[in-house]
Amino acid sequence: MKNRSIWLNKQCKALQEIRQDMEVDVCIIGGGITGLSTLFELQNSGLKAILVERNTCGCGVTSRSTAKITYLQEQIYMNVRKYSVDTASKYLRSQIDAVQRLKDIITTNHVDCNLKKTASYLFTNEEKNITKLEEEYDFLTKNQVKVRKTKLDGVNHILALKVEDTYTFHPLKYINYLKNMMKDSIYENSKVESIDKKDNYYYIKVNSHIIKSKYVVLATHYPYFLFPFLMPFKTHIETSYIGAKEVKAVKDISAINIDKPCISFRYYEDEQKKYLIYLYQSFSSCNIKSIKDNFDELDKDYHFDYIWSNKDIITNDYMPYIGRIYKDDDTFLIASGYNTWGTTNGSLAGKILSDIILKRENPYIALFSSHRAINFHKVMRFPIDVGCSLKAIIKSTKENVNNSNVIYTKRDGKNVAIYRDVQGKEHIVLNKCPHMKCGLVFNEVEMTWDCLCHGSRFTIDGECMEGPSNFDIHFP
Ligand SMILES: Cc1cc2nc3c(=O)[nH]c(=O)nc-3n(C[C@H](O)[C@H](O)[C@H](O)COP(=O)(O)OP(=O)(O)OC[C@H]3O[C@@H](n4cnc5c(N)ncnc54)[C@H](O)[C@@H]3O)c2cc1C
Repeated sequence: MKNRSIWLNKQCKALQEIRQDMEVDVCIIGGGITGLSTLFELQNSGLKAILVERNTCGCGVTSRSTAKITYLQEQIYMNVRKYSVDTASKYLRSQIDAVQRLKDIITTNHVDCNLKKTASYLFTNEEKNITKLEEEYDFLTKNQVKVRKTKLDGVNHILALKVEDTYTFHPLKYINYLKNMMKDSIYENSKVESIDKKDNYYYIKVNSHIIKSKYVVLATHYPYFLFPFLMPFKTHIETSYIGAKEVKAVKDISAINIDKPCISFRYYEDEQKKYLIYLYQSFSSCNIKSIKDNFDELDKDYHFDYIWSNKDIITNDYMPYIGRIYKDDDTFLIASGYNTWGTTNGSLAGKILSDIILKRENPYIALFSSHRAINFHKVMRFPIDVGCSLKAIIKSTKENVNNSNVIYTKRDGKNVAIYRDVQGKEHIVLNKCPHMKCGLVFNEVEMTWDCLCHGSRFTIDGECMEGPSNFDIHFP
């Protein structure tokens, strides 16, 4: 069994690094679906835009997803509807547009990324959730979506909804297509260390060089800085466990339930093999059980060929943040908080952010603005999100207590965590996530040090793989 995402089989050659100072119009930070979509939308605009990526493009959350291109997104319309039916309708429209746009980009450019028209199902196997699904059906019907109540083969359920005009794809093949197409404007292994502003220009420090730019787009999934965006107070992290197993036949089905535990699946077929991609259980940072137990639970019935975990950001009003960081300032932009639906939202963000930069109209700018009005729902969720972070801090100190391979101790006056591998070799790291100083937990399945609070991940020897941390935890 391989303990990594199945999509990571399609790695491609690393591109150039930042090796000199430069001046550009737009500097995009982060080479996931958000950053690359933004660069794509700025092609032929007349602006000089570049993208800088800390590792390699697509190595972040994008290449660990289930890669469904759909607007049938779990409970999202039910959640958003609670405080505004109008917002839920607009969000639905934005997702239908995003599905269409992504499909058009892929087909028009003949991108080889296993795009497949795949019906999406939303189902429940709990009596108490039938009313919710019925309400979802009514909402979609009122919004002119062609949705059917139906049966779903091979899955225990009482009721299922189905829409037809949705897709699945291979996310890293798509990312690699964009990367190769725009390779002269992309710099990999180029970590942004700081951003300063002076006289209407940003000075972005990358690999000890300075990029001078009029615009900055932060597409780093989670902002690596606390101020001014204060992400931990607006969001919490959700972690999910995924497996891929070789099967004899694939079905044109992509499904997700609205029950607990969360179940989501789709199929994938490449030139040689066919796979079921299966997600079982999602936990908020409040409620993470043992990482190893979660993987065992996932694997116990299927014995997967690949297993991996992934984290996404859940916002406190279930809507992404796409747009200006400072009100009325079009020069510093962000796209984040996709509530586990970032394939559609990341590509949509590319269009919205490029439209802001190019001073073009876009129907969704106000909808996703990070300066949208505070509503009752948001206020109620604020203490929950902060509580989640605090609970994760406490939990992280207890998580590895029963694991004799992990030791927390002091070395040279510093708090360190040590993992002893099967050969008896010690891997020592600093036991504090550089982001907000949470303790770290060793994930013995993927061999990473994980921060339960806000989702940073580090390799076994302390190199930062995923943010919000922007620093390694090497010892000494
Ligand atoms: C379990 C799971 C399943 C999912 N399934 C789906 C799905 O089926 N459909 C769907 O629509 N969405 C899905 N999503 C959500 C989706 O995958 C994500 O929301 C989306 O990929 C986020 O893309 P991104 O570009 O914002 O972030 P990322 O892909 O993480 O890209 C951010 C990039 O920024 C880089 N970076 C960070 N800091 C710096 C720095 N200082 N300097 C330079 N570069 C930096 C990182 O290295 C990284 O490559 C899923 C999420 C999860 C957790």
